[in-house]
Amino acid sequence: MKFSKLLATLKPYVAGEQPKDKKYIKLNTNENAYPPSPGTADVLKNFDTSELRLYPDPDASELKAALAKRHGVLPQNIFTGNGSDEVLGFCFPAFFDRKDCCGDTKGENKTPPVLFPDVTYSFYPVYANLYEIPYQTIPLKDDYTIDPKDYKNRDCQGIIIANPNAPTGIALKPYALEEIIAANRDKVVIIDEAYVDFCSYSLISAIKRYDNLLIIRTFSKSYSLAGARCGYAVGQKPLIDALDTVKNSFNSYTLDRITQKIALVSCNDGGYYDMINERIINIRDDTAQKLRKEGFSVLNSSANFIFIKKTGVSGERLYTALREKGILTRYFDGARTRDFVRVTIGTEEEMRIFLQKIKEIVKEV
Ligand SMILES: *Cc1c(COP(=O)(O)O)cnc(C)c1O
Repeated sequence: MKFSKLLATLKPYVAGEQPKDKKYIKLNTNENAYPPSPGTADVLKNFDTSELRLYPDPDASELKAALAKRHGVLPQNIFTGNGSDEVLGFCFPAFFDRKDCCGDTKGENKTPPVLFPDVTYSFYPVYANLYEIPYQTIPLKDDYTIDPKDYKNRDCQGIIIANPNAPTGIALKPYALEEIIAANRDKVVIIDEAYVDFCSYSLISAIKRYDNLLIIRTFSKSYSLAGARCGYAVGQKPLIDALDTVKNSFNSYTLDRITQKIALVSCNDGGYYDMINERIINIRDDTAQKLRKEGFSVLNSSANFIFIKKTGVSGERLYTALREKGILTRYFDGARTRDFVRVTIGTEEEMRIFLQKIKEIVKEV
């Protein structure tokens, strides 16, 4: 059977497990520890199923208006998609060129790379490979922070930075990110703010000053809606129009009617989400402190997860020991990540059990 040549080269993203074998405490995919707002439950209770006969609004206009209001921008500055993964997936063909696009007559590859850190969200290289867009990873510093200097005066065609970064959880200060954006005015700089509500600073207000800045956000983490699939981008109109062109070349109806309504109601329930996320921040800081007492190194997290390690115990061993004790975490087998385990912050009760199991494991090794 004939398949594409590209297919054989693809290494797809591996999502965290959604286990069905037994009941785990699930601290592996950075879902919110708390349920979505009561308003979202009312949407489902009152939903008129006959509406599903009709296609949804392809422009998600009401949702965009609510998001625009929330962020102090105009609806034309918002692009919505089926999770921020999809929005990121549309960014690559909208803003970046393929390997072979700018070759001379000899077919030499002259397309510069897209830059992102060596330790970051592992979906970025997957999209680059899918679209055959060249990329280059820039090593984080020894302390796992990003050095803005590394993203200036580079021969590149764009930059992607998650802030806070994943899986480190470390946030870069807004002025440091602005330095990067200002040094690359003719290229799109994408800032993935999936975890920004867990106590770092959003750069959304800076889109007014930088026409090359695109912010990516999601309802999956701080808005407890990973199961509804809704993400969005915020930027100046030409960037948003470019994303619309790609989307409408692929699938006009990426957000279904139910998700559009649920996300809309969530936008108006900001107070509820502030409350649960504040709680998660407190549990995170308390858990980090207790782990440090047990001899763990914990990177300074501004997200709803922590990246932890203990000398003498590999990430894989810690992950496996926790799994045997009914707790799912995530471990990434890379040169600079294999000593660590990433732990999503759960409820007080879940983290109490997690810490108890950690103490047992420390005694056993
Ligand atoms: C979880 C995550 C996403 C994807 O979120 P969805 O909106 O659920 O697709 C994007 N970027 C980063 C850094 C993430 O951790």
